[in-house]
Amino acid sequence: MKILISSNNRDKIREIRNIFQLPGVQLITLDAYPGAPDVIEDGNTLYENALKKATMLAEFTGLPTISDDTGLEVDALGGRPGVYSSRYAGENASYDDNVEKLIREISIFPAEKRTARFRTVAVFYHPDRVISEEGTVEGLILTERRGAGGFGYDPIFYIPEKGKAFAELTKDEKNAISHRGKAFTRLCTSLQHQIPSLTKNS
Ligand code: IMP
Repeated sequence: MKILISSNNRDKIREIRNIFQLPGVQLITLDAYPGAPDVIEDGNTLYENALKKATMLAEFTGLPTISDDTGLEVDALGGRPGVYSSRYAGENASYDDNVEKLIREISIFPAEKRTARFRTVAVFYHPDRVISEEGTVEGLILTERRGAGGFGYDPIFYIPEKGKAFAELTKDEKNAISHRGKAFTRLCTSLQHQIPSLTKNS
């Protein structure tokens, strides 16, 4: 059975491949579909965006599809950037631009007030069935970058239990505790329970 990952983000795809592993399931990327439509992420919630990404590309390719939408919720900023995390510093902002802007805004708060969480909504879409799962991880926002791994806001997302930023963890260490790790592990379990035929005879 083939399942499409509806994302153009290489960093995300790499993580999803490591996490979402089901017997008999082959993950396909959009590289195999030149001309696939770009999805405008204009939903008000992570779920709306994740569902839109999965639905549009499932319709385009005819494949069952998985997608994720992720937000970084910073408590001192009223939950921002949240659903706007990818374009926090403007349309086409780079990871660096977004990190810079967040450091600027958070620096006025003491460390203990810089609580935040990553939230991922993962969706599986098939015309007969939609399943979604969520995963979160709690941390603190740093005012200086640490580490060279991961992507996006990882250099300034600090996990107190590990004493490290996400960007200082190995990929397996990050996936074991991350928002995306939890959401896609739950999605695998739900799929195996709810659509057992998916992983049989493929
Ligand atoms: P989206 O789900 O593609 O809308 O992701 C929103 C933005 O959040 C991305 O552009 C990244 O900047 C950031 N992001 C998503 N996942 C992660 C992660 O696992 N670590 C750090 N930043 C992330």
